[in-house]
Amino acid sequence: MAERAEIREVGPRDGLQLVSTILSTERKLEWCARTAAAGVRRIEVTSFVPPSVVPQFADAAEVARGAVAMGGFDVAALVPNLRGAENALAAGVHTVNFVTSASEAHNLANVRRTREQSLADFARIVAHRDAVAPGRVRIGGCVATTFGCSIAGAVPEGDAYALAEAYIAAGADELVVADTVGVATPAQVRRIARRMVAIAGGRPVICHFHDTRGLGLANVVAALDAGVRIFDAALAGLGGCPFAPGASGNIDTEDTAFLLEAEGFATGIDIEALIALRREVEGWLPGERFAGAIARAGVPSWFQRAAG
Ligand code: ZN
Repeated sequence: MAERAEIREVGPRDGLQLVSTILSTERKLEWCARTAAAGVRRIEVTSFVPPSVVPQFADAAEVARGAVAMGGFDVAALVPNLRGAENALAAGVHTVNFVTSASEAHNLANVRRTREQSLADFARIVAHRDAVAPGRVRIGGCVATTFGCSIAGAVPEGDAYALAEAYIAAGADELVVADTVGVATPAQVRRIARRMVAIAGGRPVICHFHDTRGLGLANVVAALDAGVRIFDAALAGLGGCPFAPGASGNIDTEDTAFLLEAEGFATGIDIEALIALRREVEGWLPGERFAGAIARAGVPSWFQRAAG
């Protein structure tokens, strides 16, 4: 039996936050349903941010409720603050992904508060979960800009580790280590991810890479070396960060599934089904830039999947 590795689809969240088309709730839910049907077991379906900040997510509660009603996959939502977490929990999500940036400047720009204020909110979110849904909802702590920041430049590794340690001390169930602006390199990933896996102390570590500088999949291999087994990725390589000028998308889901299988990790994902889905999503989002090589070139006919 091959070891397993997982992809968490973040297209409906990260992938949509900068596109110019507001996708209907029905299409977002169809995207989730077909992603789950293709074998993906975790989907970040939306972001509970104020609609004034990101109009795309005005239907966050409807999307989350609809996805939970489908069953069969872990429904995650990104939240920037306690209010967002309360709304996400009320909608019944399985996982709340809370974001703080290792870079103070990025945190101020992204969620308009200091890291300390974000961490205080995180503790309140854990307390709220324990009060309303004890043992039922997983809370992830995302360390954004771990590998560098478009505003502050280099981010001291110690700042990222300190944030991760603070999350764990406050009760995080998993860590998300994010290259928010797409600057990570494999050697850096191998070193930092290893340390993050140690800090997580047996809890899951999810790596979140963007392919902004062409090293997205190389970074996945480096993170695999470090023991990471869950990766965020977006269908068709959609995605971006409002504070990462020129940033291109997340690593592409279809390519990442192909890589993981090729490296001997069973993903349970039907890559052909994802390629069919992306053709449809491309039609829903006119004028957007789509990435990914496997959808263009195809899976080699003789390719052997990892034996799950
Ligand atoms: Zn991202």
